Amino acid sequence: MQFTETRGNDGKRSTTVSFSEAILNPQASFGGLFVPKTLPDMGIAFLAEYINSDYKTLAFAILKSFEIDIDDDLIHKALERYDYFDNPNNPVPLNEIESDCYVSELYHGPTRAFKDMALQPFGVILSSLAKSRNENYLIMAATSGDTGPATLETFKNRDNIKVACLYPEGGTSDVQRLQMVTEDAPNLKVIGVKGNFDDTQNSLKSLLASKEFEEELSRQNIKLSAANSVNFGRIIFQIIYHIYSYLQLVRRQEIALGEEIYLTVPSGNFGNALGAYYAKKAGLPIHKILIASNSNNVLTDWIKNGAYDLNSRSLIKTQSPAMDILISSNVERILFDKFGATRTRELMEELREDGAYQLTKIEIEALQDDFDADYATDEEGQEIIAEYANRGYLMDPHTATGVKVYRRVSKEPLKTVIYSTAEWTKFSPTVANALGIEVKNDEEALDIISKKMGLKVSSSISKLFKRDIVQDSVVEKEDIMREMLKFL
Ligand SMILES: *Cc1c(COP(=O)(O)O)cnc(C)c1O
Repeated sequence: MQFTETRGNDGKRSTTVSFSEAILNPQASFGGLFVPKTLPDMGIAFLAEYINSDYKTLAFAILKSFEIDIDDDLIHKALERYDYFDNPNNPVPLNEIESDCYVSELYHGPTRAFKDMALQPFGVILSSLAKSRNENYLIMAATSGDTGPATLETFKNRDNIKVACLYPEGGTSDVQRLQMVTEDAPNLKVIGVKGNFDDTQNSLKSLLASKEFEEELSRQNIKLSAANSVNFGRIIFQIIYHIYSYLQLVRRQEIALGEEIYLTVPSGNFGNALGAYYAKKAGLPIHKILIASNSNNVLTDWIKNGAYDLNSRSLIKTQSPAMDILISSNVERILFDKFGATRTRELMEELREDGAYQLTKIEIEALQDDFDADYATDEEGQEIIAEYANRGYLMDPHTATGVKVYRRVSKEPLKTVIYSTAEWTKFSPTVANALGIEVKNDEEALDIISKKMGLKVSSSISKLFKRDIVQDSVVEKEDIMREMLKFL
């Protein structure tokens, strides 16, 4: 399968690239992104064929149907990463929390958030491609908490890839910080930045724009890649579980094959939702994808009113920090798919220059064919957490926005899958707060909640508090370059 560019081609590179090109060098012309030229058909016949398949078998079939230029052996090796999830036969368990409402838990991997679903196999493929081409890549990430740990975990000790993660000192939970600063491998670097997440992200941007840094990379023969969801290598693995969750419902006879359902997706950068959109377009019977946001509700406005407006807002710190995002990268891929490259480039340039764009009435209708959206405040999220905890099911604050939004938005009497994007253990002080428990820190919250709810804290979390801190750099913004040069 060939890939094309969301903002058209600048004439300096080929108009289509292979999957491996698109994932090694994810920057397309005019600052755009790569997207597949066509989608495979994964409609009823495909679903019927794989109805009883386990996760890896289904994943292999989906990756093959995209005709990616990756050897079968390597695909199998990448998918073996799911063997390290809690239950290798079913890495994404489905829980019924209401008679029409099922929570698909995407957090059973090593870092307890849904980022592992894609990053675990993606790391194997990217490193192996880099090695076979005898090229070296640097991946840099500014993280507010989940991307950092998952990126470090997948690339640790892998060949031909170095990873540097910047996090705001004091801006993550204890668990998230420990997941990063205890990662010990020569190809990994973790840097705490004095400031908030915006400062951290801005310092990364200025580092990547600096001539001195660029020259140093080229002197050392290191190329830059990316492991966030601008990379299609992440998105392709985020199509699989939507299909798998649907098939689980069919297998459990909760729905008939072909019956439409809702998918409800707590969204930030729109990668998870984009995977759902591609699954729907490829034939999965989805009535609508419901986009859940927190008070940073730019996506709600976009889908309900066609307005993408940054001027009227500033970033709010919420209890669901992985969704504290105003510039949602994968919206661009939806624009391209619906309205084409010329219009996408026009809209994205308006957003950059004027801080806002407005879709036309016809465009809004096209968007609403596939999506509906709403948001939940922190207080609403806390109420949901407490309500379900009382009934024995514990969820994290991101998942709670999904439950709230499903209740508010679903109009048809259809079943839904709501994605649980993180385990409660990553946000235990917030969860404790929702349950009316006073705690000093994550360790205490984990202890009290697990006892109260009769839950076991997974060993990957509990052992963090005993591990040595090996990544102890905390620096001023101006000193990041020096830290990076030392590392490289
Ligand atoms: C990354 C993340 C999200 C947002 O996912 P996107 O694909 O960026 O929309 C939601 N919840 C959690 C816990 C996350 O880590």
